[in-house]
Amino acid sequence: MPQMIDGKAISAQIKDEVKEQVAALAAQGKKVCLAVIQVGNDPASSVYVGNKKKACAYVGIESLAYELAAETTQEELLSLIGELNAKDEVNGILVQLPLPAHIDEDAVIQAIDPKKDVDGFHPQSVGALCIGQPGFVSCTPAGIIQLLKRSGIEIAGKECVVIGRSNIVGKPMSLLLLKENGTVTVTHSRTKDLKEVTKRADILIVAVGKPKMITREYVKEGAVVIDVGIHRNENNKLCGDVDYEDVAPVCSAITPVPGGVGPMTIAMLMYNCCAAVQPAGVS
Ligand code: NDP
Repeated sequence: MPQMIDGKAISAQIKDEVKEQVAALAAQGKKVCLAVIQVGNDPASSVYVGNKKKACAYVGIESLAYELAAETTQEELLSLIGELNAKDEVNGILVQLPLPAHIDEDAVIQAIDPKKDVDGFHPQSVGALCIGQPGFVSCTPAGIIQLLKRSGIEIAGKECVVIGRSNIVGKPMSLLLLKENGTVTVTHSRTKDLKEVTKRADILIVAVGKPKMITREYVKEGAVVIDVGIHRNENNKLCGDVDYEDVAPVCSAITPVPGGVGPMTIAMLMYNCCAAVQPAGVS
């Protein structure tokens, strides 16, 4: 059987490390504070926001919740972000996505002070990642690098294939793998003969957003498979983009859903909030 990459255990380890850092900062009189803004009451978003608040409480980060009505205008939201940018006691600002259709997400992301951009979505953060400068890194791909490293999986020199090129997962993922000296191929909906490309991967990162699409025909014997997808199946149970039962027997290591990539995202958010307070910033 393959190595099961345990995101629950690794995320718990990272949260405990952050908790120690938060306590050390507190001993120097420095507090860590995250402002979380939710517009509307999309049930999935409410669950994510609730989990973020819980994680903050666990590690000792103060969280400020701004629950705004779905009718909130873009101007009102931008004005709140402006106020939070100006508050020294707020170190991180997170706007839960997706936003209602009448609000321009790009304009909102760009309004956040890059020094408080703990989600790592601001163009300045993305640009810094691209040219190897310090900056906040999108939490899900940053969490995947931690999963690999802390599971003893070498990235340098490996053939890494990423399925998906979204701004929050696929693109930053490919840049991080490159930074770790992987040989990186990014695939997407216009890729010709996807299976032929993914079969080359020593490390296959799947962020395609299609339940159980990736079967063993896409996977090289002995590959490491990381499943970013989260879906509910017909029985309301969580599943990923990878058909776990089919793929697990042919790979060397794999993440389960749930309990793989999911918990890492919040752990890395806590890490980013703490990094926002360090004098040297993030690295
Ligand atoms: P998006 O829908 O933004 O991106 C999906 C990507 O997959 C696109 O680049 C798209 O290509 C590509 N794609 C779609 N169909 C195919 C296909 N048939 N063959 C090859 N490529 C294809 O999704 P996200 O990146 O936001 O999320 C991906 C998954 O990860 C989702 O299931 C999401 O729920 C989950 N997720 C999980 C997180 C976690 O914390 N665990 C965090 C964020 C996301 P194209 O660009 O050409 O359209």
